[in-house]
Amino acid sequence: MDPLREQLSKAKSEQDYATISRQAQLERWHQHAQFCCLCASALKPHPVEEVARQCTQCGHVHYPPISPCIIVLVIKDDQCLLAHAAKYPPGRFSTLAGFIEPGETAEQAVAREVKEEVGIEVHNIRYIKSQSWPFPHSLMLGFFADYLAGEILPDGDEIFRSALV
Ligand SMILES: [Zn+2]
Repeated sequence: MDPLREQLSKAKSEQDYATISRQAQLERWHQHAQFCCLCASALKPHPVEEVARQCTQCGHVHYPPISPCIIVLVIKDDQCLLAHAAKYPPGRFSTLAGFIEPGETAEQAVAREVKEEVGIEVHNIRYIKSQSWPFPHSLMLGFFADYLAGEILPDGDEIFRSALV
């Protein structure tokens, strides 16, 4: 198992999880954010802000990225949709998830990801809760959605198998 994933799985509380996630994301970002994306000059730690780096040439202030994603449990009557992704080890199933694209709302991303990955339409999309997801810098927004129409047809690329269980 990935060391960070293992460390997070052993978190004793939500606060413990948040601390591990924050530390991992900031460590990685400080290692990788070495040069300015505007002028390519070296970055240095910001003199005041802990979570920022500043360009030594143009002064631009850089902050760690956070990429919003959705994860959704699709419900039909007393069943829920689980899928086996191509990258999963045998026997692992999960709810559907994906990145929010530019210009989209989180709810639109839920409907699009479900349609793209398993070919069905959903409605009654409702937000439940969010969680930091440091792989490498996501914010996972959790939703429930109800099945509306269509036959389950895994895309065969990201999703190999999917079923209401
Ligand atoms: Zn610069």
